[in-house]
Formats: sequence, structure tokens, C-alpha cells
Amino acid sequence: MKIFVRIIRIIFGLVLLAGFAYGLMSFAKAAPKSGEVKAMIESGTDGSEWAYTAAPAGSQSAQPETQSAQNPEAGTADAPVVEAPPSPTPLPNTPAARAAALGLPAPPDIDITSWEFLLVNGDNSIDQYVPDKLGYLHPNISEVDIWTEPSAFRLNAGVDYRIAQALLDFAVAAKNAGMDVYLSSGYRSYASQQDNFIRICQNNGTSDGKDANGYYITMPAGCSEHQSGLCCDITDKWYGVKTAAELRNKPLSVWMAEHCQDYGFILRFPEGKEDITKVMYEPWHFRYVGVDAAKYIMANGLCFEEFVELYQ
Ligand SMILES: [Zn+2]
Repeated sequence: MKIFVRIIRIIFGLVLLAGFAYGLMSFAKAAPKSGEVKAMIESGTDGSEWAYTAAPAGSQSAQPETQSAQNPEAGTADAPVVEAPPSPTPLPNTPAARAAALGLPAPPDIDITSWEFLLVNGDNSIDQYVPDKLGYLHPNISEVDIWTEPSAFRLNAGVDYRIAQALLDFAVAAKNAGMDVYLSSGYRSYASQQDNFIRICQNNGTSDGKDANGYYITMPAGCSEHQSGLCCDITDKWYGVKTAAELRNKPLSVWMAEHCQDYGFILRFPEGKEDITKVMYEPWHFRYVGVDAAKYIMANGLCFEEFVELYQ
């Protein structure tokens, strides 16, 4: 009986073993080989039971193309590298950079379009411009008031009201330094400059206001800085004709050239800058630009045209 039971157990064990072996073989037959999977993906076949496997493989292969389309830089990685030529030195684009290129210190931080920087010369006419308000000083500063109405007595000394106090301070300082001061010409209207121009041209046998060297001896109407009201001719007394030869070494001229910047004025037509200003050296003509700009201009030996150029 025991032997019979043992035989039954052996037979049962063999049957189980055979069943397990058959199951393994069936599984191996049903699974596609790796080449078959590749073929399914490439042909776009979406076999239901392999869809899950195929989908990630397909999306992975498409991803790089999508990235390169959205990000142009991704496509340049493999592009041949072209050596860029060395870029030229960038052009100065700030006042400080332009000044540095000329060997000058940084200029003051100003608004070059502000009224005190109005450029008036043979190339820059202000046409029929008239200052909004004039201030009048006594010509020899025997009084230190600023009037808002002209009179026959002090008609010559009208200037733009905004510079009247600075001009008064400058003139008073000169007087306090022991000088005689005469404000010989301030604001001139367009019409009066027109008369000046014609008269001086006739007296000098010229028609364009220029001397034999091409420098202006009188400006056409609209091109005189006097029409802006921002300047004044300052001498030690009244002169019928002002010449650099006579006035250059006057104590007042020397003092003014040394101290004008402290009051916001510059020597507008310096000696040696005639080719730029197109005007002869005038030791009597002072122009208001404010203290910061005046100190920079005078300390660096510039004319006003050169200063304005730094900001354009
Ligand atoms: Zn002048």
C-alpha cells in the first residue's frame, strides 16, 4: 500500500513538472523578439498589448526634433564655429567717454538742452528769439539793483533776467578787486544786430561779416550770442571800438579771465580757438553757462563749442 501511494505521488509530481515546463514554452513563443518590437515602432503599428512600450520609445525619438524647433540655439551646437573678427573699439557714447577719448576729465552731469547751454554761432541761428524777461544793471555798477524795465541811463546793460544776479556778482567782485567795470553791451535784439551787421560790414569792406582770415567781426542777425541775453561785453570803460590788442592786457581782462568761472561765466572767444568759434579773440566777451560748466570749460581750456560737443 505504501508503495502504491509513493508511485501516485511521483506521477503527480511529474504531471506538475510537465505542466510548468509547458507554461514556460508557451510564454517564450508569445513574446515578440527585439527586432519585432523595433519594426512595430518604425511602422507606426500600435499593437494594443505593446502600445505602452512603443509609445515612450516613439516620443523619445521625436523629442530632440521638437526641442530644436522651439529653441534655435539647440541646433547651433553642431554648426561649424566661425571665428568672429575682433570688434572695433566701441565709439564713445557718453560725455565722460568722449571726454576721456580727448584726454579730458569727466565733464559735469548737466542737461545740455537747458537754457544756459543755448549755443549761438554762425552755424546755429536763434532766428527771432527774444528772452522772456530782461534784467537791467547800472553800466558801471554805481548802483547794485537789478531793474526789470530799461531806461536811457542803463539801456546797455540788459541781460536775460536769469543771469542778472550772477553778472552783478561778477562785476561787483571785479570792482572790489580794485577794477573799473563797464558793462558795454548785453542783450541786442535781432533788429539792432541787423543794423550792426550792415554798419560794420560797410566800415570793413565786407559783405559776410568776416575778416580776411574768415573770422567773424560781426555776426549776422540771429547768430549773435548777444541776442540770447546770456552774455555781456565787459570793459574797464566805454570804447568806440574794442580790439584785442588794446584790451588783452588790461588788469580787468586778466582778472576776469582768471575769476569768471567762479560766477558761472566763461571767456567765450578764447585765443587759439578761432578755427572753432570762427570769432576773433575777444577778451571782453563773457558768456554765462553756470558754475559747474564754467569751471570745467575754463580749467580745461575749452571753447563753448567743444564743451557742447561732449554731450552730442
Ligand atoms: Zn560780445
